[in-house]
This record gives sequence, C-alpha cells and structure tokens, in this order.
Amino acid sequence: MKFSMAAAGPLGRALIERDHDVLSPSYTREYALVVDKAEGSEVWDIDGRRYIDFMAGIAVLNVGHRHPRVVEAVREQIDKFWHICLADFYYPQAVELAEKLSAVAPMNGRNRVYFGNSGTEAVEAAIKLAMYKTGRTRFIGFLGAFHGRTLGSLSFTASKSVQRANYVSGVKVYHLPYPNEYRPILAKKNQESCGHAVIHYLEDMIFRTTLAPEDVAAIVVEPIQGEGGYIVPSPGFFAKLREICDRHGIMLIVDEIQSGAGRTGKWWAIEHEGVEPDIVCFAKGVGSGMPIGGIIAPEAIMDWKPGSHGSTFGGNPIAAISALATLQVIEEENLLARAEETGRYIKDALIEMEGRHPSLGDVRGRGLMVGMEFVKDRETKERAVQLRDYVIQHAFEDGLLLIPCGTNSIRMTPPLNIPHHLVEEGLHKFEAALTAAEAKYM
Ligand code: PLP
Repeated sequence: MKFSMAAAGPLGRALIERDHDVLSPSYTREYALVVDKAEGSEVWDIDGRRYIDFMAGIAVLNVGHRHPRVVEAVREQIDKFWHICLADFYYPQAVELAEKLSAVAPMNGRNRVYFGNSGTEAVEAAIKLAMYKTGRTRFIGFLGAFHGRTLGSLSFTASKSVQRANYVSGVKVYHLPYPNEYRPILAKKNQESCGHAVIHYLEDMIFRTTLAPEDVAAIVVEPIQGEGGYIVPSPGFFAKLREICDRHGIMLIVDEIQSGAGRTGKWWAIEHEGVEPDIVCFAKGVGSGMPIGGIIAPEAIMDWKPGSHGSTFGGNPIAAISALATLQVIEEENLLARAEETGRYIKDALIEMEGRHPSLGDVRGRGLMVGMEFVKDRETKERAVQLRDYVIQHAFEDGLLLIPCGTNSIRMTPPLNIPHHLVEEGLHKFEAALTAAEAKYM
C-alpha cells in the first residue's frame, strides 16, 4: 500500500481494513478513497468528504457520473430485460449501438462491430481478427504501451515490468520505441523526428534482421500512449505506419480504449493523425462505467465465420443502452468541442504554471487527455517520482482526485462536461499540492 491510512476518515479506515482482508492484493490502489456516491464531476466518500474528479474512473466517465440521460436509459432497460446473450439471440439495443459506433468510426464505408465486456477483451478480439484475416501470427507493439492484462493483450503491454513478471506471453510481439519527442530512445539524424527514427529502425533493422514483414499480422498502437505517460506521437508518425502496413499487407489496429469516445476533442484520437485504421478497439468511455468493449472494422475485414469468436455477456443490453445514451449525450451536448476547449484551458494553465514550478518538465496531451511529467532538473530530466506521488496524495487530502501515468507523470482526465468552476477549483488545488511538493522535494 502506497498511502497512509491517516488520509481516510474513520468509516473509510474500517472499510479499507476489511477490503485488505478479502480482496486480491494485486490491485494497486492509489489512495484511501472509499466512495459513497458521485454526481457529475464530484465524488463523496463514506465519511462525507467531497472530491473534484479529475480522473473520471480512469478516463471512463466521459459524460460524468450518473448523467440523467444515461440513468434514465438504464432504468428503462432494467424494467424490460437484462440478459439473453448476443452470441445466440438478437435485440435492438445492440444493433442500435453498433449502428451508432459504425457511423462515428474513423473509417469510411460500411463497418461491423464486435462486443465484449472490457478493454482487454477488445484487444483480444482485434488480435484474433487480425490473425484470422491475414493468416499470420506475429505482431508489432510499442514500449510503454498498455493494452490489458489477459495473456494475449499482456503480450503487447509494456508499460511496467511488474505487469508481465511471472507470466508467459500468449502472442509473439516485437516491441518498438514509441515516438516520444520529450524522451527519444533512438538517436535522431539531422532534423528528423522521433517518428522517423522509429520508422527507420523498424524498416532498416527489424524487418531486415529479425522479422519478415510478410509474417506480421498487425501493428497494435495507441494513438496517444495512455498508461505509458500521455505521450503524443511525433507528427506524421501514423501516416508512415499506415504506409508500411499498406505496403506489406499488415493491419493497423488502434487501441482507442482510453483515448476514444470524445476524450481528445474528436470521437477517436486517430482522427488527429489523418489516417484510417483497419481495426479500432474501444471500451472505457463508451459505456459510462457499464462494462462494454469491443472492436469496429470494415465489413470486408470483419467477415469471420460463426463460432470464430464470441462472449456470453458482451454487448449486454444494459451496457449497450448505457453506451448508446452516452454517445447521444456526447453529440447533443457538443462535448467534442467542450473537451477541446476545456483541455486547451487546462493545458494553458499548466503551461503558465511551468513558469512558477521548476519540477514541471513537460505538459502535453490532446483535448481532455492532459498529461504532465515531473523532473528534478529540466536539463537532465531526472524523474521526480516521489514529488509526483506527493502531489497526488496532497491533492487527494485537499479534495482533488488525480491519478499517475508513466513513471513520473500525472494525467488529468475529468469528465468532458466538467463545469468551469470545478476546473478552476481543481487547478487551484493542484497548484497548492505542487507548491507543497516542491517545498519538500526540490
Ligand atoms: N488499452 C488501453 C489503452 C487502456 O488504457 C486500458 C486500460 O487502462 C486497456 C487497454 C485495458 O482495459 P481494461 O482494463 O478494461 O481491460
């Protein structure tokens, strides 16, 4: 446990003790938050303390906690039926959601949708579809990536070694560096970007020496690296990846599980790159907290035969109706534009804070997927991990929910409709936490 129990109230402390007796110790737990209720962009703990939510259940509650439209849709569905199994029978809620997802997908033309229950299941489905369609079994992924924890998706996950330790990979994956302009791993030549350096490494080293491109089923990639530190890829990188995929018959699978459903100011973060993927993985924000995930692909790609994949609960009617209402709210309340505006406001405020706070090494992101990296020294970029952790704990004790990403970064992912006064209050609490952390660690 990373946090002090002193940060919890008496009811919270008692519950956490019971939790630790019976729940799996594999959960990491960020701080002593024991939730009682939540509404919009605010959460209350069981001791009655209020928090501003800058993390939205890990980038899930894109329309906020318990949006009235979503609550109403779920309530109506509970009164009709809960479960029947989409793998064997039919119901309108799943069809309507698939039609909506297909319409907003970042691929032109006719698409089909497969439903599972989570992000990792979405990635498993994408891996299987790529193997099925290409007849190939090798893949390319990225260092720093997070794609889930089941054995197929875990083969791609390369964000923290503890997540892979003790387990064998299910799928053969070759990991490339992600094109991170703040911390390039590969040496750049002349004026080239990190993206060019990575592409060059893939074509000139990997394809030439170890992995024949005609053996590669797919490249699996996040359009913004999430758990890895909110890293925005170098400009033009995705266009190059697309070109390589086209040249070698490789599929481009984008994992939009964290970045999708409007979070970056567009339906999907890949739209910022101007390329069309072959398969999109979605989960998290699509369902407003009801468990749903899956993939979208052009009908020419998703043409596997009956029995080749399925799930008992995937596309469950309550989750489907929750997702449909969520997507409608995003559209009707203009939340794509709102995410872009609020995200720009937060990013500008953080960039201004850089002038006052030397530990802020880098501020980055798109829309309401905002990340910042903490360093001990801007020249050496030495990672300020303790300082980052202190900021999160201090903010929590002051009533602001933040979560980490990468080794030394924090992400801000509030609901897309967070009211302006809560953004202001949250940023104020964040700066107070940062000031306290710098006084202790700088
Ligand atoms: N892919 C990405 C980009 C994620 O951020 C996550 C979860 O954080 C996953 C996949 C896995 O999703 P789940 O935890 O629902 O399995």
